[in-house]
Amino acid sequence: MLFKEIVGHQKIKKQLIDGAKKNRVPHAQLFVGNSGSAKLAIAFAYSQFLNCDNKQEKDSCNACASCLRFKSLTHPDLHLIFPILKNSKTKITISDTIIDKWREKALKNPYLSLNDWIETIDSTNKTGKKGAIYKDEALNIQKKIGLKNYEAKYRVVLVWMPETMNLESANKLLKTFEEPPKGTVFLLISEDEKKLLKTVRSRFQRVKVPDFSQGEVLEYFKAKSISEGQVKKNISFLGVDLGSIIKSIEKSDDEIDFFPLFSEWMRLCYKIDIEGICKWVDSICAEGRQRQKQFVSYSTKIIRDCLIYNFANHTLLKVTNQEKNFLEKFAPFVNEENTIIIAEQLEKVNVNLERNGSSKILFFELSLQMTKNLKLKRKFVKK
Ligand SMILES: [Zn+2]
Repeated sequence: MLFKEIVGHQKIKKQLIDGAKKNRVPHAQLFVGNSGSAKLAIAFAYSQFLNCDNKQEKDSCNACASCLRFKSLTHPDLHLIFPILKNSKTKITISDTIIDKWREKALKNPYLSLNDWIETIDSTNKTGKKGAIYKDEALNIQKKIGLKNYEAKYRVVLVWMPETMNLESANKLLKTFEEPPKGTVFLLISEDEKKLLKTVRSRFQRVKVPDFSQGEVLEYFKAKSISEGQVKKNISFLGVDLGSIIKSIEKSDDEIDFFPLFSEWMRLCYKIDIEGICKWVDSICAEGRQRQKQFVSYSTKIIRDCLIYNFANHTLLKVTNQEKNFLEKFAPFVNEENTIIIAEQLEKVNVNLERNGSSKILFFELSLQMTKNLKLKRKFVKK
């Protein structure tokens, strides 16, 4: 990874680059930052730069033999340690057993969260395990660094989320952290340094990696030709956590599940349950404005689906099974008498949400209109 691929963070980059050029490279460094910040990305760029055979003024050359292997995280002198899940099948609990998976994931999104990673290795992780760095790993690290460097000037041992290390492994590694063999650099990438042993923390030089600013997040996606509107929408509910925004933009917006909210709304409107409607309005208003607009778009889509359900080939429907079951019962209430009225009312709410109209009033009025709309019977029945 190159420094220039990471937006912002000029001060940290300069500090690391200057240090490397002057051969002032601390053997134990701790990069600390929140979830979704640039800490891992910076450590990647730094490892590559340390070993680049043709260092440029502000970055690695990205073309020498060393760079090519650091770029793909496959250099034999780059050791990657990260939390894994213990299961009954694995006897040895070390990162190397699933290194390819981690590489692939971290290369795709170097801003990823621990949860994201654990989900990748076990999507069924029902017990909510967070993963750990086990004592086998400590032994493995010691074995590895006991050998001579393969070819690099700086062998890099990169430990992602060292706070998941258990006490036993941390204690085992203390001595190693203190006096690593010459040419070995430990880079710890932590999200929660308080969970590290004090004795471990005190041996490391700390680099605090700040969160991205909103402008930096926008800049990142601008270079990837993703619309500012879409990014801002994500920032509004994910904050400046770049890792989560990348993940969210990869998924389509359709995946946000508005179905329960919509079906509940229609049920209340049909029953003209005013008290229920008031509560429902409160709950939609608790969502951010962008979410409210997404909900309105989703509602428009379902109304359109009803028309397809009623009048066209069902294979044209792009709906989940749950939505299909719902359409079966709901579609008869959407007909040529009310479709256009409903669609227009939804559109009007969308425009007013854009203009910062009061969402409480908008959704309450819309709900009242919907109670009427759903009672509009079709004049003729198409068979
Ligand atoms: Zn290079």
